[in-house]
Amino acid sequence: EPEIIPREQHSVSRGKMSKNAVKVLHRLNNAGYQAYLVGGGVRDMLLDLSPKDFDIATDATPEEVLKLFKNCRLIGRRFRLAHILFGREIIEVATFRAGHEESHHAHAKTNAQGLLVRDNVYGNLEEDAFRRDFTVNAIYYSAQDYTLIDYVGGMDDLDKKQLRLIGDAVTRYREDPVRILRAIRLSAKLDLSIEPSTAEPIAELSEMLEHVSPARLWDESSKLFLAGHARKTWEQLVDFDVAPHLFKATTNALNQDSDGSFRLFIDAALKSTDNRIAQKMPVTPAFLFAVFLWHPLQLHTQQLIRKGMAPYEASQKAANKILEKQRQTIAIPKRFSMVVREIWGLQPRLSNRRKRNIDSLIQHPRFRAAYDFLCLRAGNDQQLSEIANWWTEFQDSDDSKKSQMVNLLS
Ligand code: ATP
Ligand code: MG
Repeated sequence: EPEIIPREQHSVSRGKMSKNAVKVLHRLNNAGYQAYLVGGGVRDMLLDLSPKDFDIATDATPEEVLKLFKNCRLIGRRFRLAHILFGREIIEVATFRAGHEESHHAHAKTNAQGLLVRDNVYGNLEEDAFRRDFTVNAIYYSAQDYTLIDYVGGMDDLDKKQLRLIGDAVTRYREDPVRILRAIRLSAKLDLSIEPSTAEPIAELSEMLEHVSPARLWDESSKLFLAGHARKTWEQLVDFDVAPHLFKATTNALNQDSDGSFRLFIDAALKSTDNRIAQKMPVTPAFLFAVFLWHPLQLHTQQLIRKGMAPYEASQKAANKILEKQRQTIAIPKRFSMVVREIWGLQPRLSNRRKRNIDSLIQHPRFRAAYDFLCLRAGNDQQLSEIANWWTEFQDSDDSKKSQMVNLLS
């Protein structure tokens, strides 16, 4: 039996909610359907954080939702969902689904490894609660009587500040190994501890991530680092032994990092990403991929040079190779890997500082990112720090000071 929490005993209120989400709930209810707010939206309000988005669960089918809203379109990634559009805001409406164990139909299937290959079976509210990942993500809010409905002990876990998978952790990770990444991401973002039986199997099962589609891992891994807690997230990826399965080349390079400079570089870049997000400055996952693969690129380039290849050609060949290998696990889209290449390609040009190149470097669309990258690389390196400082001073100077600085170069 679910726990029903009446309105006066919880902190979820319409005032904190998106007006549009409330509209959608009412419209569905008035048409005779069940409809609840659920997932990250409810969870974040209970934690006194501002929700990133509002998800709604209903017993209306996607087609029925489509009939009720003219600003609605159906999308189908892993399963069919309705998106209700209000200007830039999207309210996601999902029909109750059953997980494979609870389902009486044969549509939810797992393969021999227990991986959920199809889960588009509709279900009822209770089934929908149990197929969700973490207990704190399965608390439902009703806009009819303002109660919360909790089948899985989510409220209790929120009190304990812990993230716990619903059901048997090993089974749930096997169904969908991406839940490993969600556990790490959400615990860092929400400052929740991962409950022991949820944490325990991660290291052992993380190898399963290698069987997840590279496209989905791109979506998830960029989310991992863009939630404002990249540093903590990376630490956990390393501690839980997940990093070697997603970032092989990076892990290898870290194992050969005798002076600790690569570790320092990664740490500085993650810290800077978190700071930028805190200050609402733009960030791109391309920058972090450029960082993660920087030492692998250097190692591979050196190897090719030792075999007799010219340095420029070696660095190009190595860049291709390193990106191609990374794409076998995480499908970095072209428009991002292009940026990675540009940031890398600008590094020697920024450190060589030729008089006749300064203008075109400054105007390069990737100058700012490449300059930030150079500053982070500088770390404890005296020579690089001097070059980075030169660029900092240059950007801060007026025109006459700039030409003075350029004229001193060769
Ligand atoms: P965020 O703050 O990042 O949006 P979220 O928990 O809302 O966090 P979403 O990806 O928006 O994450 O997913 C919405 C809800 O769908 C989750 O709260 C959870 O209930 C359910 N869900 C998402 N991914 C999974 C999954 N892999 N397995 C089971 N349930 C999932
Ligand atoms: Mg969400």
